[in-house]
Amino acid sequence: MKGESILSIIKHKVEFCVVGGGLAGMCAAITAARHGVKTLLMQDRPVLGGNASSEIRMWVCGAHGNLETGLIEEIRLENLYRNNYPNFSIWDSILYEKVKFQKNLTVLLNCSCNDAEMDGTHIKSIKGWQLTTQDWHEVEADIFADCSGDSVLAPLTGAEFRMGREARAEFKESIAPVQADRRTMGMSCLIQARETNQPQKFIPPAWANKYPDEESLAHRSHRFFPNNNFWWLELGGENDSIKDTEELRDELLKIAFGLWDHIKNYGDHGAENWVLEWVGFLPGKRESRRYVGDHIMTQNDVSAAGKFKDIIAYGGWSMDDHHPAGFDYRGVPTIFHPAPSPFGIPYRCLYSVNIDNLMFAGRNISATHSAMSSTRVMATCALLGQAVGTGAMLAVKKGILPRGVSQKWVPELQQALMDDDCWLPGLRRSVSKISAESIVVASQGDAEVLRNGDERELGDDDNSWIAGEGDWAEYQLSRETELQEIRLVFDSNLVYRGMNNRNLNMVCNFPLDMPKYQTPETIVRGFHIEAEDADGKVSTIYCAENNYQRLVRITKPFTAKRVRLVIDAVRGKSGTNKIFAFDVK
Ligand SMILES: Cc1cc2nc3c(=O)[nH]c(=O)nc-3n(C[C@H](O)[C@H](O)[C@H](O)COP(=O)(O)OP(=O)(O)OC[C@H]3O[C@@H](n4cnc5c(N)ncnc54)[C@H](O)[C@@H]3O)c2cc1C
Repeated sequence: MKGESILSIIKHKVEFCVVGGGLAGMCAAITAARHGVKTLLMQDRPVLGGNASSEIRMWVCGAHGNLETGLIEEIRLENLYRNNYPNFSIWDSILYEKVKFQKNLTVLLNCSCNDAEMDGTHIKSIKGWQLTTQDWHEVEADIFADCSGDSVLAPLTGAEFRMGREARAEFKESIAPVQADRRTMGMSCLIQARETNQPQKFIPPAWANKYPDEESLAHRSHRFFPNNNFWWLELGGENDSIKDTEELRDELLKIAFGLWDHIKNYGDHGAENWVLEWVGFLPGKRESRRYVGDHIMTQNDVSAAGKFKDIIAYGGWSMDDHHPAGFDYRGVPTIFHPAPSPFGIPYRCLYSVNIDNLMFAGRNISATHSAMSSTRVMATCALLGQAVGTGAMLAVKKGILPRGVSQKWVPELQQALMDDDCWLPGLRRSVSKISAESIVVASQGDAEVLRNGDERELGDDDNSWIAGEGDWAEYQLSRETELQEIRLVFDSNLVYRGMNNRNLNMVCNFPLDMPKYQTPETIVRGFHIEAEDADGKVSTIYCAENNYQRLVRITKPFTAKRVRLVIDAVRGKSGTNKIFAFDVK
């Protein structure tokens, strides 16, 4: 074997290439692939999910009180169903299978994008180095999406980007500093602990920092309780949040082990029986390069609730602007500036102003530092990813560039997103022509609501048909018709779960009496679909005995003149569950 080159270049040709497999990149890639676009996802880590993965372990947060649906809800519901005693390896495996077994999607793990070939302002291909195989992978594509957080394609392609905080006057942002600077929010190495049934000691490494008194951890909540999340273990906002990462990781580890030493060995912090379970050695990043798109989202856009014509997603987390000095700042580590929930985010923030086939989703969208301090939370990033995947699908199918979608196809983009269960505040999903033109009746109650296009509780409008076991709703068509799909939306208890993030997130710590995860008791468990043909023959075309999802699509073609949804089993003690939509196409 001596003398043989171990380096080879493996070439791929796809329609859409996504760099970075955090929640944004995953949602972009899965969505495009589900819509039939040949897609490749390049991810530099062995696991998916970015800051939500087992390597970093951040909570997936989103809009206050307005839980996100679409792909992120599908993932969360899968996790609630399968990950009964919340475990990060099971969470990782759920993210892994969503991309690994998705038709039309190739995923390259352990593959770090580090080169791009340009044709003027057009990306021809990108290249990545795969650590495990010692291969280069070169990917040609029509459209690229950078979901790497750090915007690796910006320096490689010449795409315009910003880094640091804008001056207050530039966009008239009241929370921005008077002078522009290069400061960002910092990065963190988190810790997690596990409760045992006897006292446990901790001997710190000699190199850990020392925090001998309470004063040294002032304003840093560290009394130990299961849901305490040590997000304030943060540094780097006054450094270069890309180039200085390795040195910052070393400092963050000294702080992390020093904190646990303080909790265990310097006074009673309620952690007598707790052991250190895990320390993150890969810093989770909050902020670095942000792309410039056709629109730059600002504090004022957020505060005005983002009433954009080209809304494709929404946010609703406060403008959570961490002090750039992070842990080294002795005062309160962040300011939560209020933001309305929801606020709309426009499509024009998702593609480059100067590189014609480059899109982006995640914390790197086209937004000022101030606006980004809200849009960066991961459920919002997931919605942005789904919007990029849908925008890329339209661009590929119509043979146009991302900006072309903005010019002509926004209504189609919005309808496609809503059909995939993404809520766009202020808009309503169009039901199919067949559903709209048929008669809808039910065993009890008003079934009209099943085709009103609003698919969650909105203010006083319940928007649901409430059914118990044996209840049915049906469409009576004017004649026997060939149908391609039945689309159903059940109730995953968005309002309750949206309050204080109930039962949504992977855990911070592992108490002995760990709360068990389970499917919300509001989701219909069992149902079947009956179809009657022109001769009056009735057949069951689909039967679900253990449904745990909100959006259900049945894509088996059949002909019918009458289609009936029958509820066979509900969850919970009330004897009824809500159904938001029933559409035949
Ligand atoms: C400590 C901390 C606490 C936070 N707290 C919360 C919270 O409680 N809730 C919340 O919702 N958000 C929180 N955030 C913010 C949130 O985690 C980020 O804004 C969000 O993860 C950004 O999503 P993303 O998909 O853009 O990036 P990421 O989640 O970072 O994903 C990007 C992915 O791209 C990969 N990648 C990077 N470079 C390359 C490359 N060259 N080639 C291939 N792949 C690459 C990375 O490995 C990563 O997997 C927190 C952030 C931090 C750091």
